[in-house]
Amino acid sequence: MSAAGTVLVINSGSSSIKYQLLDPRSGVVLAAGLVEKIGEGEAQVKHTAGAETTRQTREIADHEAGLRVVLELFGQIGPDLSGAGIVAVGHRVVQGGRRYSAPVLIDQAVEQEIERLSPVAPLHNPPNLAGIRVARELLPDVPHVAVFDTAFFHDLPTAAATYALNKEVAEAHRIRRYGAHGTSHQYVSEQVSATLGREDLRQIVLHLGNGCSASAVVGGRAVDTSMGLTPLEGLVMGTRTGDIDPAVTFHLVRNAGLSMAEIDDLYNKQSGLKGLGGHNDMRVIEELAEQGEPDASLALDVYVHRLRKYVGAYAAVMGGLDALAFSAGVGENSPIVRRRALHGLEFLGVALDEDRNEAVQRDGSIQVISAEGSEVTVLVVPTNEELSIAQQALAVI
Ligand code: ADP
Repeated sequence: MSAAGTVLVINSGSSSIKYQLLDPRSGVVLAAGLVEKIGEGEAQVKHTAGAETTRQTREIADHEAGLRVVLELFGQIGPDLSGAGIVAVGHRVVQGGRRYSAPVLIDQAVEQEIERLSPVAPLHNPPNLAGIRVARELLPDVPHVAVFDTAFFHDLPTAAATYALNKEVAEAHRIRRYGAHGTSHQYVSEQVSATLGREDLRQIVLHLGNGCSASAVVGGRAVDTSMGLTPLEGLVMGTRTGDIDPAVTFHLVRNAGLSMAEIDDLYNKQSGLKGLGGHNDMRVIEELAEQGEPDASLALDVYVHRLRKYVGAYAAVMGGLDALAFSAGVGENSPIVRRRALHGLEFLGVALDEDRNEAVQRDGSIQVISAEGSEVTVLVVPTNEELSIAQQALAVI
């Protein structure tokens, strides 16, 4: 591992800061951590350096205080940041709008643009920006790079990016499909191409974590994706509805007397697996469904049904399918979801090897789970957004 050339990756969420210090060339992680429940009284802090993990519970008022704690932990536990050879700080930014198709060196103008885009990512861009501002203040001597979640979807075909909404309204308010999880979809689709040694693939990438999204990628270019103006649209997620008739909103306002803030919370935080089955963790849902608990069974049915619908739709969008990749927490770890998502899709050329599917090792490697002779190669590809952000940040500087 080189002494110089590490990147600190920072992902500031609404009440959390995730970070990693890593070598973008080797992928070696020198330290990683998480500050959760910022501004909620008792914040949880976890910092891992080498084999040592430190946990703390303490009051952290805001992102500035959170980042100060992170830097303090690097000082106390290590690795010492001044000797870690940091060449850049890479920041995950959810919404880059139409402007950013690639990572960018952050200056004041970029900060302002991220702020200007906040109305189309109200839950994400403000905390991302807060993290950037504090980090630039606390680490002023290294370049800071913004890596946008939307960048990979920047040149979606117009027909895929456009909602059939009144043109003037859409233009005035910059309403279109921006997508999200782009860093992961790009990383995973590149891994698939490299593994199969082919650039010309028609692929579907299923990023199934707490947030879930699907993308259709042809020859390395995204041609459709399930997340839209915000990360609410598309697949069923841990706590988000995914696709829902927009008229449900009118109905809830008129007949249930809910406010916009309540509906926002309902769709984003009280729905999906949690809203249907009582738990946002797929492991719990699977266990309960296995025991025959009806709500969890239905939650799993709805989740899988939506996945299958997107697989079929994207195969149609691309006029066929060569590869399909499962990624993120659920995609990498749940043989049940993978099996059920692809069951009966032989007509699309998908033949899953049940034994391979069950035997997937959680060792970070890319594994093929389709049967010999399957027209479509099905793979499990561990995503690594931090590594991708670090590599992209390095490329910019
Ligand atoms: P995030 O979107 O927060 O980055 P992850 O990609 O880490 O999330 O995915 C987290 C989710 O992965 C958990 O909520 C859980 O539902 C799911 N998960 C993790 N391990 C398993 C497993 N063994 N089986 C099924 N689901 C799993």
